[in-house]
Amino acid sequence: MSAPLVEASAPERARNNLEELGLDAMAASAPEYAALVASGSKTFAQALMEMTDAQVAAVRARDLDRRVEKANFPYVKTLADFDFSFQPSLSRPVVEELASLGFLERRENVVLVGSPGVGKTHIAVAIGVEAVRARKLTYFVDCQRLVGDLKRAAEKGALERRMRFYAHLSLLIVDEVGYLDVDKEGADLLFQLVSRRYERRSTIVTTNVGIGAWAKVFGDPVVASAIADRLCHHCTVLKITGRSYRTKDLAPDRDAESGG
Ligand code: ADP
Ligand code: MG
Repeated sequence: MSAPLVEASAPERARNNLEELGLDAMAASAPEYAALVASGSKTFAQALMEMTDAQVAAVRARDLDRRVEKANFPYVKTLADFDFSFQPSLSRPVVEELASLGFLERRENVVLVGSPGVGKTHIAVAIGVEAVRARKLTYFVDCQRLVGDLKRAAEKGALERRMRFYAHLSLLIVDEVGYLDVDKEGADLLFQLVSRRYERRSTIVTTNVGIGAWAKVFGDPVVASAIADRLCHHCTVLKITGRSYRTKDLAPDRDAESGG
């Protein structure tokens, strides 16, 4: 192979090298920084620091995106996106305290109770996003999906493996408990999971029915109270009694018609 007629310039070669090393953010800014250093606007040390800062930020942002993706949130929203003035029944200091994740260290739980559209899932996701940012293994799942998943695992003889996945998460968010009834087998599986996480790992549950009414959801009052007992032993219960945010622009009497 013959040598190229025109040798690549030093900044050009540096950029190619950085690209080959996968340092995309540094590669993109290399020619610009080379010019700044050549003109005396920046020292080499300054340029190197700024370029590596940008690369570190890019790597961290991608890593966070990957972990948020794995957490399986239905949407990604934070407390900054939440309008507390719309929902005065919800204590902002209590929610902010939860988002600082002390409850995770104490292995406590959170139950968010309220009718559809009041912001239960939003708050659960926002706390979950903070947990992911703090590198806590977090997973969001709808109650029906969780029950279905455990049942399928049981049928395939793989229940223990699946239980272990859910049991070892630092934060499990179970959304929409109570929207659909859970049969006896499903309730037993949920009880097993809640027992395994009890006082070891934190769980956030959102529900549209008060915990007192869970007997109907789980068919069996004994299993229902066993689940509620473990979940609520070390627990912050947040009751949101306001209007649905989804129908906030409609006339107030339309609220009752909104879906979950
Ligand atoms: P649910 O209580 O049924 O789980 P969600 O939390 O999913 O309701 O809220 C429904 C929608 O309204 C979501 O898009 C959510 O982000 C938004 N929302 C709810 N409450 C608020 C609020 N107080 N401020 C901003 N957005 C909100
Ligand atoms: Mg919801």
